[in-house]
Amino acid sequence: MSEQVRVRFAPSPTGYIHVGSLRTALFNYLFARHNNGKFILRIEDTDQSRYVDGAVENLIKSLNILGIEYDEGPDKKGDYGPYFQSQRLDIYKKHAMELIEKDMAYYAFETPEELEEMKRLAHLEGRVTAYDRRARNLTHEEIQKYLNENKPYVIRLKVPLGEEIKFNDLVKGTIKINTDHIDDQVLLKSDGFPTYHLANVVDDHLMGITHIIRGEEWITSVPKHVILYNAFNWEVPEMAHVPLLLNPDKTKLSKRQGDVAVEDYLQKGYLVEALNNFMALLGWNPGEGETSEIFSMNELIEKFSLSHVQVHGAVFNIEKLNWMNNEYIKSYDLDKLLDLSIPFFERDGFDTSDKSFLKKVLSTIRVYLNKLDEIGDQARLFFQNEIKIESADSVSLLQNENTKIVFEQIIIKLQGLKDINTDDFKQVMKDVSNETGIKGKDLFKPLRIALTGSESGPELPMLVNVYGSEKTIKFLRDALKV
Ligand code: GLU
Repeated sequence: MSEQVRVRFAPSPTGYIHVGSLRTALFNYLFARHNNGKFILRIEDTDQSRYVDGAVENLIKSLNILGIEYDEGPDKKGDYGPYFQSQRLDIYKKHAMELIEKDMAYYAFETPEELEEMKRLAHLEGRVTAYDRRARNLTHEEIQKYLNENKPYVIRLKVPLGEEIKFNDLVKGTIKINTDHIDDQVLLKSDGFPTYHLANVVDDHLMGITHIIRGEEWITSVPKHVILYNAFNWEVPEMAHVPLLLNPDKTKLSKRQGDVAVEDYLQKGYLVEALNNFMALLGWNPGEGETSEIFSMNELIEKFSLSHVQVHGAVFNIEKLNWMNNEYIKSYDLDKLLDLSIPFFERDGFDTSDKSFLKKVLSTIRVYLNKLDEIGDQARLFFQNEIKIESADSVSLLQNENTKIVFEQIIIKLQGLKDINTDDFKQVMKDVSNETGIKGKDLFKPLRIALTGSESGPELPMLVNVYGSEKTIKFLRDALKV
């Protein structure tokens, strides 16, 4: 590629970032970095009815947290601003007028009621295009008269009829459509705001966008956009429409079947690295011969290419995300993981003053965590000063003569040890087993019950390592009294 790659993420700020939208941002980012290009954030906020307070800040915050860094945008310098469409209204107006002059657009003065009636008729007649293009026939005099009367108007695209529009999408391949099937799209609304189509095309051109990478739901707009590019005599950028995200039942990913806002995932304690890794694989793969699925951002940048974006929808599989997050949690730098975990300990009301203790807890439980909001459940055990033994079977096991012998031996050995690590405890168990002849389940099961109250949980040496010898001895003594 000779010219510098410039791509953009162009969200409409409607409250929260949908994971699908974020995946689009990520693909743009990876593509830009892979090609040493620029990544632009443009806020498409021309639909005032959908405006939500704080949405832009939220969006920027999420991108920052995820490390999806843009080079130009609302809060960054750039030669192509402003990056808010609402601050570019005069630009769109000027371009709409230019199209009128070129006879590629026209004024239309229909009232909402007239348009409603037209829609009804089109439906009855089985016509594809709803607007019957009637304002194309207005004379100059009529137009002038209405304008003088201040009659509300829109500006519509004059779709050239009877032509074939053909474009090549880098993901979907060649697409053709006859222009007779395309509506004379409104470009400028009666309130002076542009529609998505006009603003999007004008900005992509003026901002020097070379590749448009966005969700496939926008592909139906492309023919209109191509007509606009042609009308302005502009080159059409390369396009790549990336597949929709789907629920496991193959319906479009929706709130009803789980979280769709990125914030929700962050709040639950999915790690940024895991989220990015997971999202990159939603509709893209690194190609054959690659066996791993775990990639750092740098590896993703290095491997990313549009030629490996899949055509069909990508299932959002939460089990896979959980698996991946667990992989990251297991191998994460422990100190960094601790920093990330402290809010979750606090959220569940645990005392977080003793950091080295928390670190031990975390190193023991992290293999069991799919996400950090599970910390409370997994860590609770380590904050208890008493073990509740409830089941009758457990009680009778503890009262068994062998149990007594084993516990007393362990207590004696632990008394000689101040700090106890996992290896020390493994050795203690081995020695006790050799000396008493009690082994396997007969040795471990009562011990586990005494130390956890249940038959499952972290491995015993890990557990004892966190408890320390004093607390372990206390629990064993308590159990002997049961
Ligand atoms: N504003 C559109 C959106 O909300 C942008 C679509 C595009 O990338 O062209 O997704």
